[in-house]
Amino acid sequence: MNTSKHIDIVILGAGYGGISCVTRLSRRFRKKTDVRIHLVDRHTYHLLETRLHERAVRESEITVPLSRFLAKRPNVAFHLGEVTHIDLNDRYVELDFGMTDTTSAQPRRIRYDYLVIALGSKTNFYQIPGLEQHAFQLKELEDSERIRAHTERMFAIAATETNQNKRKEYLRFVIGGGGLTGVELATEMAERFDALSEQYHLDHSEPEMVLVELSDRILPSLDGKQVARSTEAMQAMGIQIYTNTRVTGMREEEGRLEVLRSPGAPIPTRTMIWTGGIRISDLIRRSGAETGPQGRVIVNESLQVRQYPEVFAIGDNALAINPKGGKTVPTAAQFALQQGYLTADNLDRLIRGRTLKEYHPKVLGEVVSLGKHLAVGWAALPVGAQFRFLGFLGSLVKRAISERHIFLLWKERQNWTGHW
Ligand SMILES: Cc1cc2nc3c(=O)[nH]c(=O)nc-3n(C[C@H](O)[C@H](O)[C@H](O)COP(=O)(O)OP(=O)(O)OC[C@H]3O[C@@H](n4cnc5c(N)ncnc54)[C@H](O)[C@@H]3O)c2cc1C
Repeated sequence: MNTSKHIDIVILGAGYGGISCVTRLSRRFRKKTDVRIHLVDRHTYHLLETRLHERAVRESEITVPLSRFLAKRPNVAFHLGEVTHIDLNDRYVELDFGMTDTTSAQPRRIRYDYLVIALGSKTNFYQIPGLEQHAFQLKELEDSERIRAHTERMFAIAATETNQNKRKEYLRFVIGGGGLTGVELATEMAERFDALSEQYHLDHSEPEMVLVELSDRILPSLDGKQVARSTEAMQAMGIQIYTNTRVTGMREEEGRLEVLRSPGAPIPTRTMIWTGGIRISDLIRRSGAETGPQGRVIVNESLQVRQYPEVFAIGDNALAINPKGGKTVPTAAQFALQQGYLTADNLDRLIRGRTLKEYHPKVLGEVVSLGKHLAVGWAALPVGAQFRFLGFLGSLVKRAISERHIFLLWKERQNWTGHW
């Protein structure tokens, strides 16, 4: 138990859920000096994860330094480190700093009175043989940089490779998973091929982008008409789409990689990027919280963890149920943000002994970029109708959504300081 006379609120993760929660919390408790807020993350920045695919092809600012949000918030302490242990019964978390010197090698314990778990998700390789070992993933800033550097390398090597088959392998890029991440990445990369071909004096028809999807269609959350139009747009970019195809493994032989699939022959390549699924870190399951599919934490209508009312799980970590229809709330940035703001309000209520608000997800829409200047999707209109689009306008909507997120965070700051 925390024996200090302060109330300590610890927020794990400075992603969409964590940062929205912490910015609002610090405003809510700005006059309550006995409440201390602790934000923990392994990075010093807030990552705009929804724009990772952009950074995989070009220089693009997709992080915001946490110091920019926290500089004028004296009631928030930032702890940089890797969360390695969560103890829900004894109410503490352990952080590893990844340092090799003996003074800081010991994990540091942070005790809490209230905890918010917002650690996001990891790539799920589903134990497909060879996949985790050989495939790239797209989850962290470093992943996108790795993909960008590797792509350029493949073009550079192909430029002087005289063996036709080897050239093909270097210039064949395979993406596993035809959901939002796979499609956004495939289209951005395919768009970059022309510039790279030019740069390395390669024939523009040589690079290949292959998208492999298990189900019978890409983009499962969009309607059939939009999927058909997106598929056409992607094929026009030269992307080969294999639906109803399962990635069954990856094999390496004498430096050659092959993506194994069913049905179909293995695909020889030097680049496989897996975007086929997510799962939650085992760290959370080990905490004692009850978990459901993908390892997401079962929460009640106010996002509190079962049997631990002082603990909230939000964003990808939470298995929240939409009271309207009873379905699981999907993992998406828009829901993580809503849950972060609501949890800040509820912590305020909990500490002041008031009734908590229930979570009612607002589905604002869905936008999938198809390269830099095209996007497909829909946005909810106030009258309950939907505005559907495919085209340049969509890409503006996509950009506006990302800017709105930053704007809202700054607005919390404005409310705190009284000026921008
Ligand atoms: C390429 C891509 C595109 C996407 N596009 C969209 C989109 O267009 N629209 C949409 O709604 N959703 C999109 N998503 C999904 C969306 O990004 C996630 O649902 C959202 O980020 C979840 O928010 P979160 O707060 O739960 O976790 P995150 O935003 O992932 O934040 C988790 C935070 O926890 C930190 N962390 C994790 N583990 C530890 C640890 N052990 N120790 C310390 N810190 C840790 C991480 O550094 C991170 O800052 C996309 C995802 C990807 C990968």
